[in-house]
Amino acid sequence: MALKSPRFASNAALQNAARSAPPIRRGANGQHVAAIQQAFIDLGLGMAISTKKAGKADGIFGGETESRVWQFQARMGLTRDGIVGRDTMAKLDELLPTAGPPPKPLPPAKMTHKINVHMRSIDNPTVPEFTQLKVMEEIYAQYLIRVDVLTGQSVGLTPGEQFTLNIVDGDCKWDQVSDEQRLLQNSGSNQGVGVNDIVVYFATVLREKNGETLQGCAGHAPTRPAVMIAASATDKTTMAHEVCHVLLSSSFTPVHVGEDANLMCSAPMCTGQPAYLSVAQLNRVFASKLLHKL
Ligand SMILES: [Zn+2]
Repeated sequence: MALKSPRFASNAALQNAARSAPPIRRGANGQHVAAIQQAFIDLGLGMAISTKKAGKADGIFGGETESRVWQFQARMGLTRDGIVGRDTMAKLDELLPTAGPPPKPLPPAKMTHKINVHMRSIDNPTVPEFTQLKVMEEIYAQYLIRVDVLTGQSVGLTPGEQFTLNIVDGDCKWDQVSDEQRLLQNSGSNQGVGVNDIVVYFATVLREKNGETLQGCAGHAPTRPAVMIAASATDKTTMAHEVCHVLLSSSFTPVHVGEDANLMCSAPMCTGQPAYLSVAQLNRVFASKLLHKL
């Protein structure tokens, strides 16, 4: 069906997308992409990265735009693929009938899935657990995933354990934990922890063999989904990032991406907010057995 809204109708590329001939996807750029980005902004789906440089929609269909398309599709009950084709264009045309603001806001996001998290602390992190949790909730809520904290515990250690775990030594590896990592991941109660739940351990220092310290590590024993976070971690997204590693599983590559504000960005690039996930990452996350349908 031909697009009617004055903000879309005169653009040939958008009219083509409305027939999926061809749809618009990551890698595209131009006025047509800017029109889509502006539509998301007007609907209340922020485009912080895409507007950062120019102060307005940049027309570059990158990670953030793709993520917003996916998010919009999920909210509207459309096929979630991050590609703007017939159904997505028709929905935008319907919700934005004029060049001005939408006549009604998007309905509130209804969560479709959840992850179960347990928190075990042997030290207080620089960025408090509660802050890291809030940030994680916001990031995952974009994709209609709720974070349920089922249990939380300040773990009391014996003086001997405390001495050993003051610095948790061991390289960060998948499905393989060092003796001290194992000791950490056996500290505290396992009561109420289901096999498909994720336990978050807040430690003091995580140190690899080469002497480097880590903000966090998603290494855990094969059947015990868990992550470790160092008290010194300064990045507010550390918990969200490490949990995402677990959801993506060890076989997902690239492990880190050099893209600003992607939740799985490589450390020095993680500057932008809010963090988003790519569609490739989302597809894997939604295939995880650690994600529970609501
Ligand atoms: Zn990482």
